[in-house]
Amino acid sequence: MVKVISIANQKGGVGKTTTSVNLSACLAHLGKKVLLVDIDPQGNATSGIGIEKADVNQCVYNVLVDDVEAKSVIISTAIPNFDIIPATIQLAGAEIELVPTISREVRLKRALDTVKGNYDYILIDCPPSLGLLTLNSLTASDSIIIPVQCEYYALEGLSQLLSTVRLVQKHLNKNLAIEGVLLTMLDARTNLGIQVIEEVKKYFQDRVYKSIIPRNVRLSEAPSHGKPIITYDPKSRGAEVYLELAKEVIDNG
Ligand code: ADP
Ligand code: MG
Repeated sequence: MVKVISIANQKGGVGKTTTSVNLSACLAHLGKKVLLVDIDPQGNATSGIGIEKADVNQCVYNVLVDDVEAKSVIISTAIPNFDIIPATIQLAGAEIELVPTISREVRLKRALDTVKGNYDYILIDCPPSLGLLTLNSLTASDSIIIPVQCEYYALEGLSQLLSTVRLVQKHLNKNLAIEGVLLTMLDARTNLGIQVIEEVKKYFQDRVYKSIIPRNVRLSEAPSHGKPIITYDPKSRGAEVYLELAKEVIDNG
């Protein structure tokens, strides 16, 4: 059975894209068939996986706005078992263009339903907002992974995200579950990190992943080489932990 997971948090810079790309690559490395859907107009997941945005003719925008079939915009990446639906800056218009359209929140779901049978996991890299693109993602998903950066005000904004999840459950997708909360960018040299871990665990309890992503310079370098961490530097701490996370995600069913 395929599982569709949104990687979402309306805060920018918390590790959504890093997690989307690297968790996808690690799941594929473990033999799962993976589709990554980039729905952030910045297209960082698209370029981070080595796809030149200038070479992309049609992207997720055309699927959402022009009813182009999902299968015709899927590109295979350099990693076996790992496909992507790319995003380009064209997608920036979708947030507004979708407003007057019929069933505007279920467009991504309908498109992904046609390709679901080919994958074990579909991960969706969300933009840093709770607008129509994120709503499309949550409506299309079985669950959500929330990356939380280990810094001051880590929990700030999460109540707004959780109330959006409840609204989606009530009106659009009653089966949407919290897959897990992922602590990211931990700096093990500071006490602050430990405090944030405790605070987040108090709030989310056993929904927090055991795997905690450390701050790792190799993780921040990899996108500029167009590679996920397991091919860019498989021996790095970042690669090890994202692989552990992938196993945790698989074990959680
Ligand atoms: P988001 O998608 O939530 O905006 P990103 O994944 O793009 O966040 O991460 C923001 C920035 O932090 C990027 O430059 C990324 O390379 C860097 N980064 C993310 N995770 C780590 C990490 N664990 N260690 C070091 N740098 C990281
Ligand atoms: Mg991002």
